[in-house]
Amino acid sequence: MAPTWEERLQGVDCPLCAPRTTIGAFNIEIAKLTIATLYLGRNQVFRGYCVLIFDPRHVTGLQHLSQEENRALIRAGAIRFGLIHLGCPKFSASS
Ligand SMILES: [Zn+2]
Repeated sequence: MAPTWEERLQGVDCPLCAPRTTIGAFNIEIAKLTIATLYLGRNQVFRGYCVLIFDPRHVTGLQHLSQEENRALIRAGAIRFGLIHLGCPKFSASS
């Protein structure tokens, strides 16, 4: 039986929680960062479309992160890989 919406919000059968495959149906792992993993989306909605997934636990939004986790996520993604918007990440290979 498929999980209910409330169970999905709690992380039951979450396809984004670890462990994840490095090469999946939707994403290809690019880099493991300190607090997240960066994946290249197979469906290139726009060139360089990537997904940054928070690794330590299941969360459904930035509001569920502590201030320290928020800073670490931004440092990991925004500075190291040139991600401009967490909600609509862009990956710059030149950064
Ligand atoms: Zn999850």
